[in-house]
Amino acid sequence: MDTLLTWLVAAAVLGFFFIRYWRVHKKSETLARAAAEKGANFSGGPQAQHPRIDTDHCIGCGGCVKVCPEGDVLALVDGKAAIVNGHKCIGHSLCAEVCPVGAITMVMAKPSAGADAPRISDELETSVQNLFIIGELGGLALIKNAVNQGRDCMDVVAERIERENPALAGQDIMDVVIVGAGPAGISASLRAAEHGLKALTLERENVGGTVSKYPRQKLVMTSPVEFPLHGKFSKTSLSKEDLLAFWEKVMQRTDLNIHTCEGVDAVKKEADGLFSVRTAREQYRSRAVLLALGRAGTPRKLGVKGEDLSHVLYRLIEADHYTNNNILVVGGGDSAVEAAMGLAHQAGNKVTISYRKSEFSRLKDRNIKRIEEHINSHKLEVLFNSMPTEFRVGSLSIEVAGEVRELPNDFVFIFAGGIPPSDFLKAAGIAFGSSEPVEQRELQATT
Ligand SMILES: Cc1cc2nc3c(=O)[nH]c(=O)nc-3n(C[C@H](O)[C@H](O)[C@H](O)COP(=O)(O)OP(=O)(O)OC[C@H]3O[C@@H](n4cnc5c(N)ncnc54)[C@H](O)[C@@H]3O)c2cc1C
Repeated sequence: MDTLLTWLVAAAVLGFFFIRYWRVHKKSETLARAAAEKGANFSGGPQAQHPRIDTDHCIGCGGCVKVCPEGDVLALVDGKAAIVNGHKCIGHSLCAEVCPVGAITMVMAKPSAGADAPRISDELETSVQNLFIIGELGGLALIKNAVNQGRDCMDVVAERIERENPALAGQDIMDVVIVGAGPAGISASLRAAEHGLKALTLERENVGGTVSKYPRQKLVMTSPVEFPLHGKFSKTSLSKEDLLAFWEKVMQRTDLNIHTCEGVDAVKKEADGLFSVRTAREQYRSRAVLLALGRAGTPRKLGVKGEDLSHVLYRLIEADHYTNNNILVVGGGDSAVEAAMGLAHQAGNKVTISYRKSEFSRLKDRNIKRIEEHINSHKLEVLFNSMPTEFRVGSLSIEVAGEVRELPNDFVFIFAGGIPPSDFLKAAGIAFGSSEPVEQRELQATT
């Protein structure tokens, strides 16, 4: 009798946990299915490269779901992988790498998402022959992609030069000019040296591109990268300082021809087929040009009165330079939230985030959790549905849900994105929008 009772209790306990597990599983699957339906037509979906899942071949192992560094981009729905949060995908490609049956390929976003983007071929060539676009300017985020594209594109240039007329470059004609020295431009410059090309790199600021503007000690890579003239860099996580120091060392060793603080104002293809590349100092002539300008461009301004005062800033590098201040951070993306949390940790700061929407909707999972913790523990305050209306020395005005408030203020950090260099590209004759259904075009330069 006792044994029967023990069995009955055990069965009841097991049954309870099974039903609970089943209900939780069912609920998360319903949520995932709803999200997948949204993800399937890409409303708010991926803006650039993203996985395409062949559901006929997917075996539902879930490897892709687990490996995604951005969290919940993918989920299993009805036993198959599906995109559920497409807007969070920034194209790490790890899902495609781990899929044991090759059911995932990386593709560009649908044509409408690329309508504002320059038209680029599989060889990364624009509509102007021998004028190429590499790195984030072409729509692919991540250091790894920029480095790979710089390398692959320079291989195309070297092969053409070898085939057409290797001896053309002379005293005043370069084989190739690379514009921009971020990850894509550095990688292309190193590869050009490897090929023995006569190359010049022009950078309007300093070497390192967007990486040099990350906050101090930010960790930068998520998968191994192969650098020309160095080989495989197998560390998957290193600080921005380490990466910049590494580039500096490799570039010194290689004696690259890089002009820093020399921005390019215009690129034009002349009647003789050569490019003229104009800066404030010089006009260079080249057989090919690689544009590695990034997408950060010029910081987007709010158009608010007092925005050009010196305490209104568009970038934060050293959070610990700011203590005992009243600080407003404007924006609702990862950069804004990370900067605000960094500032909130410094002694005596009172940090407020102003975001024009009613909630954060495009943050990385880890930032969603962290910002909630910061709000709940009163380390910072968030004003949703708000917009600053005037900045002054010592104070500012801000409209919150229709009501104007005055706040004490020492510094403002604005993270409203950048204006991409579309006018520059159009002036160079580059066509925009896709002439083909880009979603069908597989990405060949990212592996
Ligand atoms: C806050 C933040 C955090 C990020 N974190 C990561 C991360 O952890 N891991 C990761 O893999 N990726 C990360 N990324 C993305 C990564 O930084 C970019 O994808 C990468 O830097 C793109 O490299 P790029 O060479 O194409 O462009 P950029 O790095 O933007 O470099 C472009 C260069 O071109 C120069 N330039 C522009 N116009 C001209 C001109 N007219 N003349 C001459 N020079 C010009 C610019 O000064 C700049 O130096 C992050 C991005 C941001 C904004």
